Amino acid sequence: MLKVKNTLTAKKEPFKPIEKGKIRMYVCGPTVYGPGHIGHARTYIAFDIIRRYLEYRKFRVKYVVNITDVHDDMIKTANELGISIFELGKKYSEEFFKEMKILKVKQADVYPRVTEEIDEIIKLIEKLVQKKLAYETDDGVYFKVEKFSDYGKLSGIKIEKGKTGTRIQTDKYEKNNVQDFVLWKKAKPNEPAWDSPWGKGRPGWHIECSAMNFHHLGEQIDIHCGAEDLSFPHHENEIAQSEGVTGKQFVKYWMHSGFLNVNEKKMSKSLGNFITIPELLKTTDPRVFRFFVSGLHYRSPVNFSAKQIKKSEKTLKKLDSFLKRLTEIKKTGSENKKVNVLIENAKKGFEKEMDDDFNLPNAWAYLFELERETNKMEQEKGLTKKDALNVLNFFKKINSFLDIFQFEFKEQKLSQEEMKLIKKRENLRKEKKWDEADNIRKLLAKKGILLDDTQKGTKWRKEA
Ligand SMILES: [Zn+2]
Repeated sequence: MLKVKNTLTAKKEPFKPIEKGKIRMYVCGPTVYGPGHIGHARTYIAFDIIRRYLEYRKFRVKYVVNITDVHDDMIKTANELGISIFELGKKYSEEFFKEMKILKVKQADVYPRVTEEIDEIIKLIEKLVQKKLAYETDDGVYFKVEKFSDYGKLSGIKIEKGKTGTRIQTDKYEKNNVQDFVLWKKAKPNEPAWDSPWGKGRPGWHIECSAMNFHHLGEQIDIHCGAEDLSFPHHENEIAQSEGVTGKQFVKYWMHSGFLNVNEKKMSKSLGNFITIPELLKTTDPRVFRFFVSGLHYRSPVNFSAKQIKKSEKTLKKLDSFLKRLTEIKKTGSENKKVNVLIENAKKGFEKEMDDDFNLPNAWAYLFELERETNKMEQEKGLTKKDALNVLNFFKKINSFLDIFQFEFKEQKLSQEEMKLIKKRENLRKEKKWDEADNIRKLLAKKGILLDDTQKGTKWRKEA
């Protein structure tokens, strides 16, 4: 029985989708005004594995990730760059898709964009106004938080009563209560704007997620995901807008991913520990990062450091060579029943842990145990090709959602000429002719041959 920790109830609950066998799942996506950071990468990988595990469990999952391409940050950055928000949004959404592909995050079924959902958003705000849950001011339309009695049920944050009637000026916007939040912003000069019943303007941030959920998944959905810091006010406001209109429960299970720190500190540009996804990909094999994320519980806070990544890299290399050895087994003969028992135990254990709120750290232990036991049997008795295939097939199945393992290993060979060059370079190094040695290294690097000078001599490998 699959169980999911629900932020709404703070309990682990049996998972029952609204419609049998079908899951409507929504993840708050990126604001496309610049490259994402590694905290985003962690969130999208964590929920990607969960989505694909649910598919492995034979659920039909409809997965929606929104693209925020209208936003204060978009306007500010576009102005700084002297381009339109449309150009900016195009550039960074394309980059986002490219990065997700590299990180093996499966495409969503729909990526709705604010610029393409304005009609849906306006329709929803109109309903909120009709229900007197929203009101118009000189500069926009606001949600009246006091009118929604369930406000705070997700985050536990209570609103202060008795503040109505006092007009409050906060930053730029005038509203009747500090807690009220903006649904529609009336246009200022030189801002991108759309026609609406309240004049030209653009939507506030929170309303898009309610409108896009309604449009692409329906008024009630099964799973809503996002990073922990979105639970208040963003998700609280989504609940208020959505349930305010329908009177029905909006989301059955709320799932939040934990914070990611870098070197034990919150990521910030001033601390110099802010890492964007493109920066990450320059220094880290995307497969290693995905492996690192897959070893964490999605709700756990994470510390990212070079040391952690090194550790992941080492473990993944070990797994790679384990799988490679299996592909090389040629021994004929029948299956060993003991191997099948090992696989069956690993599968059961792995699924049991995944069914317990997607407990990946515990689930991985079963894969490592299978690796250990298989190695032991191979050393003691030798496995047959059939045994090896059985183990490999199990790893392939698990890989349908982990998407980390490799199963094809190119044979790495160098030509005689290349081997000679490596030998020559070694001799030059002994003679301390560093420049000449380095020229050979550069020459080989151009051909994708990388050298590593170890105590036992120079090792080479070919770039994939
Ligand atoms: Zn959202």
